[in-house]
Amino acid sequence: MRRRAVVVAGLVALVIVAGGPARAYLKFGTAVDGRTVDLQWGALPVGYVLSNREVPGVSAAAFASTVDQAFQTWESLPTAAVSFRRSGMAGVDPEEEDGLTVLGFDDRPDLDRVLGATSYTIDTSTGQIVEADVFFNTTFAWSVASSGEPGRYDLASIAVHEIGHLLGLGHSALGETELRPSGGRRVVASGAVMFPVAMAPGNIDGRDLRPDDVAGVSDLYPDGSVVQQTGSISGRVRKGGRGVFGAHVVALNLRTGALVGNFTLNQSGEYVIAGLDPGPTVVRVEPLDDADLESFFEGTTTVDIDFQVAFARRLVVVPAGGGVTRVDVDVKSK
Ligand SMILES: [Zn+2]
Repeated sequence: MRRRAVVVAGLVALVIVAGGPARAYLKFGTAVDGRTVDLQWGALPVGYVLSNREVPGVSAAAFASTVDQAFQTWESLPTAAVSFRRSGMAGVDPEEEDGLTVLGFDDRPDLDRVLGATSYTIDTSTGQIVEADVFFNTTFAWSVASSGEPGRYDLASIAVHEIGHLLGLGHSALGETELRPSGGRRVVASGAVMFPVAMAPGNIDGRDLRPDDVAGVSDLYPDGSVVQQTGSISGRVRKGGRGVFGAHVVALNLRTGALVGNFTLNQSGEYVIAGLDPGPTVVRVEPLDDADLESFFEGTTTVDIDFQVAFARRLVVVPAGGGVTRVDVDVKSK
């Protein structure tokens, strides 16, 4: 049985960015026979079709080479077994459930904060993705210039983000934003391509995957020796002795500076961060208050953001090919 998933993971357009380091990755789950399984492709390579729709500044040929390159960015990772095959270009609609995985421009003036979005069709008996469609919203001005163009969003960056969704990745909370007086948020810093708020027009930083993105896709589609080369940290986040749901847990590798995050995903406050480089690692827990909660979770009422930033009491040394458990963190109300 197939169903069109309600998961529509959009990338929100907002203004202005400053560079600088940030301060996680999330996998989508889907229910199968009462269990939650990771949303992912069962068969690889993923075949895709590109729409030949053109917009000002982006010819069909430029669209194709830019999106193909974005697929290549994910495919070239040595630690993730993902692969893709383009089957052609056609006058196809990226929002149609037609058995084809289509990427293309579409007119969505109704979604005036959404640059692009990915939707899925899922085999509900296995949880596997059987079709995914990505649209880029013609409401915005787009660029395929190699170094970006002022006032135009970088198609390459947004394509890399949406292909992360196409693979089954959710949003990362590794970034910082601030609320704008006029409404919405602006990005102060972003630590992951999968952060839900886009960089400003003209910015091309989103073309390059960050450690958090690499850990996420490598965890979902581990290739070769990645399991032997990386490690994991797990534990619980508690407040007043009870588990905290939706806490953002971040691992900072002191040797490489890599930041990788994840969330506590149940009422016991349990989390797991996998795909980590070995080495001494600091674990920090923070409330998920730097982006709209709906960007991360459906049913956001149970996400607890009423606590102060806290650190694990001990420095964790992540082993290669193993995990450190019981890295528990107690937090206090704000
Ligand atoms: Zn997104």
